[in-house]
Amino acid sequence: MKLVVLKFGGTSVADVTQIKKIALKVRNEVNQGYKVIAVVSAMAGVTNNLIELAKTTTEIPYYSEYDVVLSTGEQVTSALLATVLNNLNIKARSWLGWQVPIISDKSHGNAVIEEIKTENILESLKKDQVAIISGFQGITKENRITTLGRGGSDTSAVAIAAAFSALRCDIYTDVDGVYTTDPRIVKSAKKLDLITYEEMLELASQGAKVLQTRSVALAMKYNVKLRVLSSFEDLPGTSIIQEEKNMEKTEISGIAHSLNEAKITLSGVPDQPGQAAEIFGALAKHSINVDMIVQSSSINYEATDITFTIPETNMTIAESTLKKIQKKIGFKKFIMDTKVVKISVVGNAMRTQSGIAKTMFETLANNQINIHVISTSEIKISVLISSDYYELAMRSLHSAFGLDV
Ligand code: ASP
Ligand code: MG
Repeated sequence: MKLVVLKFGGTSVADVTQIKKIALKVRNEVNQGYKVIAVVSAMAGVTNNLIELAKTTTEIPYYSEYDVVLSTGEQVTSALLATVLNNLNIKARSWLGWQVPIISDKSHGNAVIEEIKTENILESLKKDQVAIISGFQGITKENRITTLGRGGSDTSAVAIAAAFSALRCDIYTDVDGVYTTDPRIVKSAKKLDLITYEEMLELASQGAKVLQTRSVALAMKYNVKLRVLSSFEDLPGTSIIQEEKNMEKTEISGIAHSLNEAKITLSGVPDQPGQAAEIFGALAKHSINVDMIVQSSSINYEATDITFTIPETNMTIAESTLKKIQKKIGFKKFIMDTKVVKISVVGNAMRTQSGIAKTMFETLANNQINIHVISTSEIKISVLISSDYYELAMRSLHSAFGLDV
């Protein structure tokens, strides 16, 4: 079956005028002889409003009824798009997650897709209907509705593309592709024609917002042909590919920044086996995701300092957790700092090329920017710096790595 999956984000379905425009993109694929599954987000801003509404009834988010509220946004758009298509004489029908069904685990608010049953949709596609599936939602084996985490429609689309062996999965959004860095901060940012799954995964997880991180991991796992395209203009977009065709490419691919960071320093931690396990174990129990970690080795084997970062949104829970274990572990004090930003440079070139760290640190030094914490992976270097300087850091790094247009 010649099948494509098209995903339309919130700004692409923001109002009916917009929905009418993207309906033409669907029609275009149909006219070219493709079977089409469209996956839709809620209209821009709707999910935020639903969260605020649900919050007014309870302090405990992400229980099952909360997901029932949140998933309504996508229900509306799938029906609106199906109606508009039918008015254009393109046969189409809406599908909610449970009607497909898209089966997920029970982790409400951040559920993981376990299985997508294909029979119902295949039958509909055979009747030449376009299937419009509500993104962001699933159903548990216990028959409860779940949602897949913010930005989860990307993951719905990629999972559907994998389950149906689609020829490609096109993610339509409000930008015309993946950029070397955030164009709102660095005016000279340029659009990339190609990027590898691994690079995209690093960029997404380090703060680039164009795709939900999970969706990129899934696309990589199932080798889904992924593209990021503009809903508003007819431009080629960015293709996410297995391996860089240009193997000798030397420059880095992109610079990401993340504002949702907090730095915590524990000082006077007794230098004994098991302390780090105890501290990070306590944080993990509350699902606090620790990211960068540095520990200095003590001179006298008595006490050491540990610095790490967590999402700023986890600050309150981290603070109460640390207070609880302070006595038992016996560290002297802890300091929290939220005026920090993480900047990451990403590129496959790092595997083979030396000197990237040197360029990065030198550039920051030349701009008098102090580095608090450093972490690296094979294709990424991240630094934590004061939030006062992050725009300067991004601009100067963009230029130092030769990415300016
Ligand atoms: N509507 C959901 C959100 O805003 C899912 C999505 O748009 O991908 O997070
Ligand atoms: Mg999105």
